[in-house]
Amino acid sequence: MASTAVVQVDLQGKLPKVASGKVRDLFAVDDKTLLFVATDRISAFDVVMENGIPGKGALLTALSIYWFRYLQSEIPDLKTHFIDNSLPSNLDNSLSSSLLDSLRPRSMQVRRLRVIPIESIVRGYITGSGWNEYKKSGTVHGIPLPAGLAEGQKLATPLWTPSTKAEVGDKDENITPEQARGVIGDAATAQEVERLSLQIYTAAAKRAEEVGIILADTKFEFGVDEENGNQVVLIDEVLTPDSSRFWPKVTWEENLGRAQPSFDKQYLRDWLTSQGLKGKDKVVVPDDVVERTAAKYQEAYETITGEKWKSG
Ligand code: ATP
Ligand code: MG
Repeated sequence: MASTAVVQVDLQGKLPKVASGKVRDLFAVDDKTLLFVATDRISAFDVVMENGIPGKGALLTALSIYWFRYLQSEIPDLKTHFIDNSLPSNLDNSLSSSLLDSLRPRSMQVRRLRVIPIESIVRGYITGSGWNEYKKSGTVHGIPLPAGLAEGQKLATPLWTPSTKAEVGDKDENITPEQARGVIGDAATAQEVERLSLQIYTAAAKRAEEVGIILADTKFEFGVDEENGNQVVLIDEVLTPDSSRFWPKVTWEENLGRAQPSFDKQYLRDWLTSQGLKGKDKVVVPDDVVERTAAKYQEAYETITGEKWKSG
């Protein structure tokens, strides 16, 4: 991967900045279009680290684009916000070539939509915050589950387990599907979000399984296309190591009942926990943890797409 991490993106005022999330910076191309730029920032337990993971932004963008294309071929009625991975032409003419080279692989143009304010999580396996809740109450997001499940066990059927979508600095909270329907408001929209989430999870889990990866859980976001009969559209990043837990299938069974090895930010989460830094601000991640995390992300990309990762 490239040697320095890009944690801030400066377009020198050429496009207005619309928002800045934990990982992405969004710029307005026009009224209907955003330039969606993934930086190399990394967050864990809802806190952004001081330093980034070199190459991560480009990798997340490339993997999201892979999945947008894959999902559209598998689910013909699915609409996504992805337009293309070009830069708007006015940038091409006005920024330095080194800035353009850094920007190109980490950016995509997307349709600007009204964001539905929930994190549409689907869980096929019980782990993470779902496992913590189950241990206490035998439920996941308020949904009762059979007694005696082990950590990492496969659920009888994938579950739609949404959470709130917190403002920057706040924590997402697990809620029941019923509460999520209330947040979404319109019943038909809520039903469509649930249906699409489960359908996308199932298609992606099947693809992952073919290459030896278990998609334990993942998070989607959806927007509403108000100019097209309030159609529900898949937005944001999709099925990346930031938004998903990917486990190697070969070691799943032997690790039932404890944490699974994974191709995602679990390595960073475990390091933070072991150092007593979980949820703390201003954490500088040491070089070896940066490198191991980068290697995990790269392994996820290469296994899923079947393509070698070209460092930027
Ligand atoms: P995280 O995803 O790590 O929880 P975050 O929500 O702050 O953090 P980022 O990925 O840094 O997210 O920023 C992306 C932001 O862009 C999110 O707030 C997301 O809801 C929003 N977004 C995604 N797609 C669109 C779209 N098509 N139109 C408008 N906003 C979008
Ligand atoms: Mg996000």
